[in-house]
Amino acid sequence: MHKPSLIDFHAGITAIDTEYVRPGLDASHLVVQGERAAFVDTGTTHSVPLLLAALKEKNLAPEQVDYVFLTHVHLDHAGGAGALMAALPRATAVLHPRGARHMADPSRLVAGSKAVYGDAAFDALYGEIVPIPAERIRTVEDGEKLALADRELEFLHTEGHARHHYCIVDPAAEAIFTGDCFGISYRELDTADGPFIFPTTTPVQFDPEAAHATLHRLLSYAPRHAFLTHFSHVSAPAALAPQLHRDLDAYVDIARRCRAADDPEESIRLALREWTFARLDAHGFDPDPVLRDEILHMDLALNAQGLAYWLAHAADGAPA
Ligand SMILES: [Zn+2]
Repeated sequence: MHKPSLIDFHAGITAIDTEYVRPGLDASHLVVQGERAAFVDTGTTHSVPLLLAALKEKNLAPEQVDYVFLTHVHLDHAGGAGALMAALPRATAVLHPRGARHMADPSRLVAGSKAVYGDAAFDALYGEIVPIPAERIRTVEDGEKLALADRELEFLHTEGHARHHYCIVDPAAEAIFTGDCFGISYRELDTADGPFIFPTTTPVQFDPEAAHATLHRLLSYAPRHAFLTHFSHVSAPAALAPQLHRDLDAYVDIARRCRAADDPEESIRLALREWTFARLDAHGFDPDPVLRDEILHMDLALNAQGLAYWLAHAADGAPA
């Protein structure tokens, strides 16, 4: 096992690269308060040795981890949780009430993911999904608070990306752990203009109205920092939120425009790519389309898939 790639932030927060798909795509965050620790999201089963190595680098024993917080049960966030919990004797897994049963019995999650990715890709991406014993899972209601040592964390049920999603407000760090509710911001796309950010609309519970509302709710806490699963820290979230709102509106417009196409999903994907590349031009990022596709092809495909699903299923998905 090679060394984990870690980035240390303020207030005892460390980003661990889970190495899902490629470096810099998917982060787990370790939060340390006094003698106690918690993970926020876990990457996949393949990531677990990296997370355990990160604990060791921080001179923490597995017994010192009190919580494994899972923002939602998409497998790039929670796929490794069962295998990680098996190595953390005192930890409790904390989930949204709608996500809990899927971690105790991951069979439906696995089937859903295989439908998105295909069987062969699933195994390479995620490996075996280990269930979490039901008695080691606790759920949190909207607005509920939990303490890590003497550090109070508040849980917000936040829909838009998925109905089983929560975000964690961490006043001690003036931060929110946003999972997939504050978009994606790869450090590879940073320029002199700052971070590049865009929403994630992956299947099958994208809800644009809820996504807008969630952004407003997160900003009502006036966070100075957001920690995203893809990929880690952005500062001044209030300055980035308007772009996320504009993108959400643009994505919905694109989806509606593609509704009558022969292959709506592919038409959406191409239009999203064009929209995103134009934004990258304005952002001053390298114009090389090969490089851009390398970084973004997976998200463009997943976002198109989620928008096509929304268009075909959502009550408000009818064309304007
Ligand atoms: Zn997700």
